[in-house]
Amino acid sequence: MQHAWDRSLEILRDRVEAQDYENYIRRLQPLATRDRNLLVEAPSRVAVEVVTTRYLGLIEEVLSQAVGTPIRVLLQPPTAVQQELFPLALPAATAAGAARRRPTSLIPKYTFDNFVVGASNQFAHAASKAVANQPGDHYNPLFIYGGVGLGKTHLVNAIGHQILEKFPDRRILYLSSESFMNELITALRRDRMEEFKSRFRRIDVLILDDVQCLAGRERTQEEFFHTFNSLYESHRQIILTSDKFPKEIPDLEERLRNRFEWGLIADIQPPDMETRVAILEKKAEVEHIELPYDVALFLASNIDSNVRELEGSLTRLGAFASLNKAEITVDFARQVLQNILRERDSRITIESVQKAVCEFFHIKPADLRSKRRTRTIALPRQVAMYLCRRYTQASFPVIGDRFGGRDHSTVIHATQVIDHRLKEDATFRATIERLERVLESRG
Ligand code: ADP
Ligand code: MG
Repeated sequence: MQHAWDRSLEILRDRVEAQDYENYIRRLQPLATRDRNLLVEAPSRVAVEVVTTRYLGLIEEVLSQAVGTPIRVLLQPPTAVQQELFPLALPAATAAGAARRRPTSLIPKYTFDNFVVGASNQFAHAASKAVANQPGDHYNPLFIYGGVGLGKTHLVNAIGHQILEKFPDRRILYLSSESFMNELITALRRDRMEEFKSRFRRIDVLILDDVQCLAGRERTQEEFFHTFNSLYESHRQIILTSDKFPKEIPDLEERLRNRFEWGLIADIQPPDMETRVAILEKKAEVEHIELPYDVALFLASNIDSNVRELEGSLTRLGAFASLNKAEITVDFARQVLQNILRERDSRITIESVQKAVCEFFHIKPADLRSKRRTRTIALPRQVAMYLCRRYTQASFPVIGDRFGGRDHSTVIHATQVIDHRLKEDATFRATIERLERVLESRG
């Protein structure tokens, strides 16, 4: 990518105002790439604005050509400036603004201030900021996907709040796909479709949470398709979340899937250790829980699947400590959370792995045990073996036995194949991690 970037700079030098090139373009710093997105640090706040308004399209075009596939560029100000741009406490002046503001469907507590950024959500966060600063302009729709409890709902609400900060008159609607569907059903039943349509088409920013729930709902998909088009054509911002990548949502009309992929797609991965600790510390601060660092480390290393569980464990700990007037120590945490920590280990079985894998890849349990070796079955089978090894105590021969009486060497081979591919292939890794979250979130 660095190479492609350098080449693009040379091309841009000829196509951009010399002054702007010197002041802004040349000083852009690529920070990280993910899928089709490149995160770029601009030298200043002004640079972000100038480059975004004048050159973003051109940069993306040139860079995409250099790389050979479409690339999205996400600009962010230098870290020091971000602090000043998004200070932790809201300035007093906005209090009056807040009072004036119309009520919204946004969830009040989910703001950027209390969203902890780490490697796992860096892109989704940058994308969200970009959209919040320029709704409707460039990244439309914004599609955020990631496993359960990783902060999707939090992020998209934060976008809504920040848009309201900047543009208090914008009409923002946040709702779940379930609610969208229910409102549609009610409107149909009461013969109020015109009202329904005009209501959704008057909105400036539509945030639709958990669009994977639209799977198989033909009538809802159809109506949403029209809503989408009408908003899109009038440059209104559309923000979507899903627990799956568009291609992986089953029973979704092709034309909708296609539109979901038009804009910017950003994923959220499970947080790494460092981020988990930071999230715990932030949450402890908000809830006034005295959380020593070693206890934060203990929680973060034992609960690694999802932020919601992490928060739940902290709340529980805080409640127990205050009830018992006890100090929060590692021993205390171990005692209080004993059940949670132990349950996590024993509840995943070979059967539950097989079931989850079959649902995820849309194959039948019998396929896992069959002799068939087509790719669509062989790969899920290897994944399932790998996960059995990872999540259960079962030995290689036992696992082989439960997969249609296969030899233990087949299971060993499968785990090696998957291990290897996980190291090499980021997209594959993301898929498997999502599957793991599904597995872990079931009890
Ligand atoms: P999702 O919609 O992806 O299932 P949520 O947005 O509901 O997840 O997040 C679950 C909980 O975890 C929420 O309470 C949210 O505030 C918290 N959370 C998730 N990610 C973060 C983060 N990076 N920083 C702070 N809190 C987070
Ligand atoms: Mg959610």
